[in-house]
Amino acid sequence: MPKVAGFYINSAGKELLKKLKALFPEMEVKKLNKNTLKEVWEEADVLIFVMATGIVVRSIASLITEKRRDPGVLVISEGGEFVISLIGGHQKNSNLLAKEVAMFLGAKPVITTASDLKGIPAFDNWIKRCGLKVLNPELLPKTMGLLNQKKELSFFVEADFKSKLFPFSKVVSNVREADVILTNKRTSFSDKLVLIAPNLWIGIGLHSEANLEEVEKEVKELLSKSGFEFLAIKGIATIEEKCNHLVLIKLRERLGVELKCFKKEELKEVKVKNPSIKVSEYIGVESVCEASAILASGGKLVVEKHKFRDFTVAVAEEPYSIKGKLFVVGTGPGDPKYMCLRAVEVLFEAEVIIGYKRYLELISSFLSGKLVYSLGMTEEIKRAKLAIEEALGGRIVALVSGGDPGIYGMAGLVLELIAKLDEPLDVEVVPGISALNACASLAGAPLTADFCVISLSDRLIPFEEIMKRLEIFAKSGLPIVMYNPGSKGRRKHILKAKEILLKYRSGETPVAIVKDAMRDSQKVEFIKLSELSESHGNMSTTVIIGGKESFICKNWLITPRGYSRKYR
Ligand code: SAH
Repeated sequence: MPKVAGFYINSAGKELLKKLKALFPEMEVKKLNKNTLKEVWEEADVLIFVMATGIVVRSIASLITEKRRDPGVLVISEGGEFVISLIGGHQKNSNLLAKEVAMFLGAKPVITTASDLKGIPAFDNWIKRCGLKVLNPELLPKTMGLLNQKKELSFFVEADFKSKLFPFSKVVSNVREADVILTNKRTSFSDKLVLIAPNLWIGIGLHSEANLEEVEKEVKELLSKSGFEFLAIKGIATIEEKCNHLVLIKLRERLGVELKCFKKEELKEVKVKNPSIKVSEYIGVESVCEASAILASGGKLVVEKHKFRDFTVAVAEEPYSIKGKLFVVGTGPGDPKYMCLRAVEVLFEAEVIIGYKRYLELISSFLSGKLVYSLGMTEEIKRAKLAIEEALGGRIVALVSGGDPGIYGMAGLVLELIAKLDEPLDVEVVPGISALNACASLAGAPLTADFCVISLSDRLIPFEEIMKRLEIFAKSGLPIVMYNPGSKGRRKHILKAKEILLKYRSGETPVAIVKDAMRDSQKVEFIKLSELSESHGNMSTTVIIGGKESFICKNWLITPRGYSRKYR
């Protein structure tokens, strides 16, 4: 346990530090003062300041010597919103501590060490997102260290956990081999991180005379006797008539849990272990505690009815599942600079990233610490199905698609597959700069008004159909953007397209050939339609055919917007 000291300048800071004593019981808490700070600086491993960063920087500036000697420094905003890892990110574990403290406070950790931002998979975020409770948070830094070393954690799972586990984990059947215990039961392994899945519903039936202290005590004792962890309570369930009973309202407040109430007709439908004629005569249903617990949990009874003087208690276990989300993310034409901010945010947040090898290479800086599935070009269906399966399993998944996912990209296929699902799945399509935007900007302004777009790939559409469409476009006189102008297996397609275009447009028509837009090997070339050849057809080129009004001037292909016509 590191030696921790906390400094405050006002009562709000003092209160917050008091709260942190739960994490660092031995922490000394002091009012900021030059002399004490100097003493503590020499002795402590970590200093936690609750105040503005400016005050901290000015106070410690003259004390700072070198990385290995200085203590770690965390700064927490007075309102407890942010925990900044200021000094000793790695040497003194400040980054991990900041994350841990932030998790404890429900705050946002502010970490600026580059390798840390990329490095270790965000296990702590996963715990928080899954709504799991950490029984012994002081073991978190050690467990994160293990994860960093072994690249995975061994889980012993005891609760009815239905979702996929943390992406870097394996399940062990012997609790002694585990690094992490995921349970709703009491456990005696104090050297392992214990995560509690709150999935127990306490069904309670009670008389008006029931007493709060007694109910709380008996619930606690009953859980403990039955081997369950008190922290695993998700909620209280009862009959509608008792929903406003002060004992239940207060108990729910004390425990910070939900309260679900059920109608008689609903309770009557539930098959219970211990129906009672007496209860039925009194309130009109044969069971309140067992039936309401089963209904609320949507699962099974784990502790049968126990009768006390003025109340009855039963416990049911809810199958624990986590809500995943699928993002279909457009990564733009190449350089991540041309990605939208939402895409960046989503890639940071994602636990699993799935994509075509070549596109993943372009965003390699986002991949470390994530579970990455890199698949081949023709494996779109496999990629989409895998992404859906991972997200349904409770993970945050980013399925990346080059350019814009909705333009010759993955969004259509993914949504088509999801449309057929019975289960709900949260999906967000994050747009990206498509090749047509990127290539047009490099070529000048060829697409300023109406234009046509076509893909020459006949993998999904018969080539004759593509040529029919191209003919309609050619007649229109509008600029035409051609995606997928050719590949190894489709060398002649571009020549056939040229033939059709020449039926309606002059050989002098200006054409922009843009290869590898926004990538290191980017190349822009202007030619005449008559010069279009097989060599211009490859998988990283977009061809823009000028329209009736397009012209080349300086280094640009320009299609007039129409202002000069209007304002002659
Ligand atoms: N969804 C993508 C398009 C995928 S189809 C998008 O919105 O851009 C693949 C085709 O897009 C390639 O064959 C090529 O014609 C074009 N393309 C993709 N990235 C490109 C780039 N950086 N430069 C030029 N063309 C590109």
